[in-house]
Amino acid sequence: MTSLSDIPVIQTPPEAPARGGNPLANVFDDFIRYCRSRSLFMLHYCTGCGAIELPPAMTSRFDMERIGIQPMVTPRQADILLVTGYVSVKTLKRIILTYEQMASPKYVIGICSCTVNGGMYWQSYATAKKLNDYLPVDLYIAGCMPRPEAVIEGLKALRDNIEAGTSDNWKDYYQRYDHYLGNQQRLFGADWQTPTEVIAEAKHYGLFGPDTLGEHTRRLEDHRKPLEPLRMTLNAGRLEHME
Ligand code: SF4
Repeated sequence: MTSLSDIPVIQTPPEAPARGGNPLANVFDDFIRYCRSRSLFMLHYCTGCGAIELPPAMTSRFDMERIGIQPMVTPRQADILLVTGYVSVKTLKRIILTYEQMASPKYVIGICSCTVNGGMYWQSYATAKKLNDYLPVDLYIAGCMPRPEAVIEGLKALRDNIEAGTSDNWKDYYQRYDHYLGNQQRLFGADWQTPTEVIAEAKHYGLFGPDTLGEHTRRLEDHRKPLEPLRMTLNAGRLEHME
């Protein structure tokens, strides 16, 4: 059974990042963060029953567009990955791939108790229990299922954290990639890999650190294969002359 120490607790938000000495640069940073927090595009990965509370949160009654959050259908243009309930092992592979395709900075929200600790499916062999073992979750909205008001409150909290500069968990994925990859390998098998060059991205963002590489990333070298171009052939039969 899940022990109490496994269950995430509500934590006080982290301190705002230390500010540099240049006041003009600080004003510019504040402005960028303000703009980012007021125009968020949300990719909702409808994994469980919690997805049913998203349409009311989006539409005219509760209307998340009034706080600058709009739905988006592709990961490349999205800022928020919303996981809306229990996650099966098969689905988690797609979620990780989707997350890695999103451009940084990016944010993950787990909706429903099932994303926090497995919820009522904690005993199932087919579901992943704690989403933050596999992806850097910025915010959980607990409940089975949470009401649209709770969803809106959670989104407002994320918006405020982005504006304050305290919601940067996407950096953790690069800085501790070996930890996340290790948990993914434990679930999917030691030959698990995605086509994304996460290590190269960590270097690109200046987030490559001592925990980016480790025993789990070393395994990638054993089985990494170059991506092959998708070959599409059309085997159309020869057209017969039609009378
Ligand atoms: S927390 Fe409840 S409503 Fe949400 S996915 Fe789990 S069982 Fe479904």
